[in-house]
Amino acid sequence: MNLEEFSNSLFDEVCLLHKELCVIPAPSHFEDKRAEYILNYLKDAGINNAYIDKAKNVVCTLGEESEKIALFEAHSDTVFPMETPLNYIVEDDIIKCPGAGDDTGSLAVMLCCVKYMAQNNIVPKKKIMFVANSCEEGLGNLKGTRKIFKDYGNRIDRMYSFDSSFKKIVNKSVGSHRYEVTAITEGGHSFGMFGNRNAISVLARIINDIYSIEVPKIGNSKTTYNVGIISGGTSVNTIAQSASMLCEYRSDNVDCLAEMKNKFENIFKNAEQLCIELKVELVGDRPCMSNSMDMDTLEKITKKAIRIQSKHTNCAVELDSGSTDCNIPHSLGIPAVALSNCNWGGIHTTGEWIEKSSLKTGLKITMELILEEGGLL
Ligand SMILES: [Zn+2]
Repeated sequence: MNLEEFSNSLFDEVCLLHKELCVIPAPSHFEDKRAEYILNYLKDAGINNAYIDKAKNVVCTLGEESEKIALFEAHSDTVFPMETPLNYIVEDDIIKCPGAGDDTGSLAVMLCCVKYMAQNNIVPKKKIMFVANSCEEGLGNLKGTRKIFKDYGNRIDRMYSFDSSFKKIVNKSVGSHRYEVTAITEGGHSFGMFGNRNAISVLARIINDIYSIEVPKIGNSKTTYNVGIISGGTSVNTIAQSASMLCEYRSDNVDCLAEMKNKFENIFKNAEQLCIELKVELVGDRPCMSNSMDMDTLEKITKKAIRIQSKHTNCAVELDSGSTDCNIPHSLGIPAVALSNCNWGGIHTTGEWIEKSSLKTGLKITMELILEEGGLL
């Protein structure tokens, strides 16, 4: 296949698909409308095995039967709440819209390639699965990818997730645990009941303990913690009866992550005696790379992704660790990389944008990678 001709011929179509997807709101857990649209798009292309699963993933396969499956994903959810205005603005080569890049650009490019293959009878020699997956963002907790690996895990031997910008490839996973912590105390009038326990002061002590943690380090691993949101209390003359916060720790090393879990749990346990009740809820759980990872294959697919991405973008690629859909296969020891098939900026802000022409570049990257994995190059 001449990739240049292929991408030129599909450019208008990919731009149109991108626009139509962008204006369908799809916050994590509410991807229904996008999923429906994508299912129809695939069915119209003649892909009869396409379906929507219980996690709101849209799944289809192409290629000859094989025991092992190569998985390609792009996520359908965005970080933007349902009521966010989705104005699609094109200014020269820049398209602005919340979610335009992360990850709607990648999704449009991948779907366009799948449709082209189906309509032109291009049959990979190995089973290839394509998923428009749900719940990659925030507290979606990777629900979509978890479901795919629950259903097909032992057959998937590699995964490529299109979810990055042109200069970056992620092949290492940062795991994290996120907690909502609420302290409940007697409270009372600030003068009349002075001496009663104060929920804000309890949280302050917990936060102080967290910020006294010496983070573990193994090799060149990185481990962090953060308290991101705190709220509580009633008025300036009330001893706070309730206060809560959201906090997290992250690490790219499975042993460091376990050590942080211990440290946080000890801090919470010690704080129980400071209040009537300390409610601790795990609201986010992303695993990191298992020690049983097949490092040879991971290196092989990383090199392949770097070669193809940098060839078409003319950008040097930096390897990075991140929190992506790859966390799930990585935690199971299955090689996975997140690479780019469009160029974006301002992600997770309402000023999010992509380079329109990068969709054309993305078509070449995606098709070359699929053809190579499918034994057709
Ligand atoms: Zn993303």
